[in-house]
Amino acid sequence: MKRMSSLEYHLGIKLRFYPSDRQKKIIKQNYDAQRFVYNQYVGADCLIYHTKNASKIAQLNSTMPFVMRSMTKYEIDKAKESIEAQELTVKPKNIRDKYCFLRAKNIDSLAIANAIQNYHKAWRNYHKIGYGIPTFHKKRSDWSYQTNCQYFGQDEAYLNNGTVRFIDTKHIRLPKLGIIRIAGFRTLIKKRLHDQIPTRIGTVSIKKTAADQFYLSLQLGSDIAFTKKYDKTQKQIGIDLNLDNFLTDSNGAMVANSKFYRKAKKKLAKAQRVLSRRMLRAKKEGRSLRNAKNYQKQRLVVAKLHDEIRRQRQDFLQVLSTALIKNHDLVVAEELRSKNLLKNHAMAQSISDVGWRTFLIMLEYKADLYGKEFITIDPKYTTQRCHYCGSIMGQNGYQKLTLKDREWTCPVCRKEHIRDWNAAINILEKGQGIWQNPKTKEKAV
Ligand SMILES: [Zn+2]
Repeated sequence: MKRMSSLEYHLGIKLRFYPSDRQKKIIKQNYDAQRFVYNQYVGADCLIYHTKNASKIAQLNSTMPFVMRSMTKYEIDKAKESIEAQELTVKPKNIRDKYCFLRAKNIDSLAIANAIQNYHKAWRNYHKIGYGIPTFHKKRSDWSYQTNCQYFGQDEAYLNNGTVRFIDTKHIRLPKLGIIRIAGFRTLIKKRLHDQIPTRIGTVSIKKTAADQFYLSLQLGSDIAFTKKYDKTQKQIGIDLNLDNFLTDSNGAMVANSKFYRKAKKKLAKAQRVLSRRMLRAKKEGRSLRNAKNYQKQRLVVAKLHDEIRRQRQDFLQVLSTALIKNHDLVVAEELRSKNLLKNHAMAQSISDVGWRTFLIMLEYKADLYGKEFITIDPKYTTQRCHYCGSIMGQNGYQKLTLKDREWTCPVCRKEHIRDWNAAINILEKGQGIWQNPKTKEKAV
């Protein structure tokens, strides 16, 4: 049977599901178990690190730093603890031997294995990018844990012969949880089940949002494509992402920025004020938040508002990115330089509102899925260049355009421009590799 990584096509799907109360309890247990294990690893790390450091410092501070000194009682105790901690994290088995509740019937051993794997992944990430040391996971109101679909002895993987398997288009069986009711992707599941199309299920994430909704994310892999490619259209387009509207394309069309977040923000702010008032009251009266009914009720209201805003924005981005990919063979956008963009705090707010980064990820993913091309280019000079004659503002004594200049006239060729439209054309031409002066055929840059 082929491994996940050697299959040609991959698709992630997210399904809403509706667990029973018993299943909710099991999900919570597994979430707690994976968090516990992750935190054990982080704790062991901290202990080992601090013990090593402390003895190093003590050695340096002693009167004769080059002579091995004897350890104090405290240091010996710490060293012992740290050896124990080290042993605990050598093998996943050790931690499960020490804490036997991890062997409880309802605990998915793969959830624990995944927690450990995520911990190591966090370290690898840290070594690669230089920040994000694994830290303790706090208890949260959104839960998640991961399991895997395993195939034992089968020649070929299908949607219905692994340890995670579809019973029909509305039900799936999961390890420990049993059969749960699901919603979504019915056509895809039906076709693959009915036609027995070899499809492997990989990692499976089980999630509960803060608004108490349950979702299942499945990684699917297959040698048979999940979607039909879109027809070629012989059209290419450049898009300029800006704050005045969501985007302007190289044909001059503008897509308004919906700013869902800002509209709903007032509502959200109000709900959050109520929430913090209730938190204060509960604290004043010495009640724990978990038992403060009114607080918990309001927490759900806030979480639902957040969720609603996120979903609306997501829908907007989905529809727009699909339309762009479907109607064009090539889509060109500028790379986002978050560092530059986020310098200005007010602007940062807008950027997180409009979700450009998510949008670019969608374009890339969909281009791949539907057989189209999406590229990003370095945004240098895309705003300052006149696409008509190729001269660049801010060079040769011409004044640079500022954010205020929404419309401008090229001082060289006298062509009138709308800033974002001109930028979108430049972005497209840069993506096509034809950044030349159309009149003199000289390279403009
Ligand atoms: Zn010009």
